[in-house]
Amino acid sequence: MPGIYENARSTTGTTLRLKDMNPTSGMCPICIDECPVLCEISKSAFRGREVLYPNPEEFGKSTQSSNKDYSMDWSNFQIMVNVLGAKGIEPSPDAAIFENVDISTVVASQGKNPVPLKLPVLIAGLGSTRVAKRHWEGIAMGAAISGTIQTVGENVCGMDPDSTYSKGKVSDSPDMRFRIESYRRFWDGKHGDIAVQTNVEDQRGGVDVYCISKLEVNTIERKWGQGAKAIGGEVRLPTLERALQLKKRGYIVLPDPEDPEIQEAFKAGTFKTFERHSRVGFPEFKGFIEDIEWLREQGAKRVFLKTGAYRPAVVAFTMKCASEAKIDMLTFDGAGGGTGMSPVPMMNEASTPTVYLEAQVLKCAQILKKKGKYVPDLVMAGGFVNETQIFKSIAMSNLDEKPLIKSIAMARSPLTAAFKGKYFVELAEKGKLPKKFADLYGTKPEQFFMAYTELKDLIKQGLPWSALAVHTYFHDRIGTGLQQLMAGSRKFKLDTLDRGDIASLTERAAEITGIPLIDHFETETMEQILDY
Ligand code: SF4
Repeated sequence: MPGIYENARSTTGTTLRLKDMNPTSGMCPICIDECPVLCEISKSAFRGREVLYPNPEEFGKSTQSSNKDYSMDWSNFQIMVNVLGAKGIEPSPDAAIFENVDISTVVASQGKNPVPLKLPVLIAGLGSTRVAKRHWEGIAMGAAISGTIQTVGENVCGMDPDSTYSKGKVSDSPDMRFRIESYRRFWDGKHGDIAVQTNVEDQRGGVDVYCISKLEVNTIERKWGQGAKAIGGEVRLPTLERALQLKKRGYIVLPDPEDPEIQEAFKAGTFKTFERHSRVGFPEFKGFIEDIEWLREQGAKRVFLKTGAYRPAVVAFTMKCASEAKIDMLTFDGAGGGTGMSPVPMMNEASTPTVYLEAQVLKCAQILKKKGKYVPDLVMAGGFVNETQIFKSIAMSNLDEKPLIKSIAMARSPLTAAFKGKYFVELAEKGKLPKKFADLYGTKPEQFFMAYTELKDLIKQGLPWSALAVHTYFHDRIGTGLQQLMAGSRKFKLDTLDRGDIASLTERAAEITGIPLIDHFETETMEQILDY
């Protein structure tokens, strides 16, 4: 596959001695015995399993993703613009202005507790991985002021060094409290909400009941997986004490921190971090339905499900379970998105890429709809970073009346916005901004953040600059961009987007999704118009 080298990857910090590699093995065509370069094979000879992962040195300060070209992404579709009429607004030049496009949406719209969002983007589960903790206030407060959902990801209570457990169940977690209170501090109480995600370990530890009963959390999301990997969540632990503590709490910690030889090796610096893994679940139909009923009995006002990009049979099984349990919102996360820590070969080579996955999900939805079954509000995730992808994904999901995909979930890209906002403010404080940036946009945050004027009161009340960065990315960039694209298609309400708003650019895209090729698009209509 072009751009992917089996024996050298930026993610693992490996490279090749020669440029004209063997395209099959990825090795240099001449491999010499005195080569000082670390390719995948040679680094693996020293570091073994570490080379399965993105550089351990970057853990906690980075996010990662696949860099494989899946020969199918949103660029395979073209947005069809229009000039004849308008939907969702009066077709008048004075009304049909892009700023009048309504991009708000509602998720969990079919239940008793719908959640309005100011734009069709929400932030997927960010949990115990260190990068999420480091940037939590920026990301959660950014989500809150943007009027959207933030999900606290898996393992937060279990990883909290200060949490209290009694008989295996959590009774207090300062970190979970911090995560929820951060979101609520600037939340308007109307748009979006804070949700808490639970995996197998969280369920065992009673995180759902703790969050519902003690922290008044309304929404619990069960997690079956993520697009970047098909094994449980993983993080790195930098100290022996943390490794021992988490093993004691029941987590899988590798290598075994209780083994005296491993302890010696760690102290000698042979390896610098332990891996903490979480278990995977084995969902089955009846048990899942009962679990969701039980969650509602515990007081959950909404129940979401997030799954990864498993094989098509699992997509169908997931849709069946979610339909029968009347899940309020179901998120599918395709390969190509991001993570805080996942094995690189798994990110690249496993799981269904997002466009293929969406096509499978929609096929299942169509079958369910034909049977008159409930189809939950759907959310797609997996490598979304901009408004064009959002437009295409939502438009594609309108099988009859309204789009089934109500929002797109992102995690990696809003984290990047938060990173950048925080880092550039630090550089500004030190007088070390890149010269070109400072020349163009000024040397103070009040100058280089476009939205400062609009949100300066919140900044004065303690809103972090990184939250302003997330808001600016979501609303000023993605929101405005989406309004422009929709106005170009003469669609002024999000739920008027439909499959006729996009065309396939390749036969493969048309075959996978059923969206007509651009050269077959509206051919009959063209003839009808000219038959006058
Ligand atoms: S060890 Fe061999 S394959 Fe690896 S970079 Fe050196 S020459 Fe190339």
